[in-house]
Amino acid sequence: EAKKANTLQGMQYHTDMSDKINKRLAYSDAMKQGLTNNEFKLYYQAQYNHNGDIIGAEALIRWAHPIFGMESPSIYIPIAEETDLILDIGQWVLEQACRDIYQLEQKHLPTTFRNIAINISAKQLIQHDFQSLILKTIKSHNIIPSHLTLELTESLLIENIDTSIELLRNLKAENIGCAIDDFGTGYSSLTYLQRIPANVLKIDRSFVTNIDQSNESIAIATMIISLGKMLNMEVLAEGVETSAELECLKTLGCYHYQGFYFSKPMPLPELMSLLDDKNSGKS
Ligand code: C2E
Ligand code: MG
Ligand code: MG
Ligand code: MG
Repeated sequence: EAKKANTLQGMQYHTDMSDKINKRLAYSDAMKQGLTNNEFKLYYQAQYNHNGDIIGAEALIRWAHPIFGMESPSIYIPIAEETDLILDIGQWVLEQACRDIYQLEQKHLPTTFRNIAINISAKQLIQHDFQSLILKTIKSHNIIPSHLTLELTESLLIENIDTSIELLRNLKAENIGCAIDDFGTGYSSLTYLQRIPANVLKIDRSFVTNIDQSNESIAIATMIISLGKMLNMEVLAEGVETSAELECLKTLGCYHYQGFYFSKPMPLPELMSLLDDKNSGKS
């Protein structure tokens, strides 16, 4: 009887496993198709300072696929990251962001506007020619280099510390900045952090959600804000959804924000009209 149960469990296990593998294969195939069929788009989520001015935006990938496109990139990007597919997606994101930055540069940008941030994956970072790919792409699109910035997660940077330092140093020399994404989730030591030439620490959304009601989150955010001061990095809070969270962050000394309370990710034309409204003082 016990043996039978084990066998059944074993079969269950195998079925789940192959379901998962099949799902991954289906995603990967669909993503490959998606790249050739132009199904991917970049949306932009504006970032704000404490005066309500737009200081930039984060590019977030969106997928116009009837089934998979409903999912957040946090579902399919990790699948792409298991193969070299992420390199093609990453290059597409870089190119599209540069095209969009070029469009933005043709407009009268608010003086507070600084840059568009793109998310970078591990495989891209350790690509041997990543640095020259970025510089080449920027050049070929004829954009102002400082208008592009990279977002790398804390754990990604720490796991590839030497590569990261060299890359960020070289990019910094070209006026391309870096933000440390999802900060606070990666347990990095000060020794490592102080070596990373980044401009911005992005407080992970998990510490921002309900911060006004959580002493623990307040303690963590306070620590990140003083870390930012110490390391000479700006601190931006991710995922601000309520005015109570915003007020709390302001009180703690965090002056840059991104989140649904301000605006959602949107297509480029909408970002452009948002910037126009700002310029004409409408909102
Ligand atoms: P991330 O880089 O930390 O991006 C922030 C995520 O939080 C985005 O989810 C954004 O839509 C969401 N968000 C922003 N404000 C709020 C808020 O107030 N409340 C809530 N609940 N969520 C908010 P999204 O677009 O689903 O992206 C998820 C993750 O997928 C990103 O996390 C990033 O790690 C990855 N990703 C997105 N686009 C790209 C890309 O082009 N390349 C790579 N490699 N990864 C990407
Ligand atoms: Mg990000
Ligand atoms: Mg983040
Ligand atoms: Mg994230």
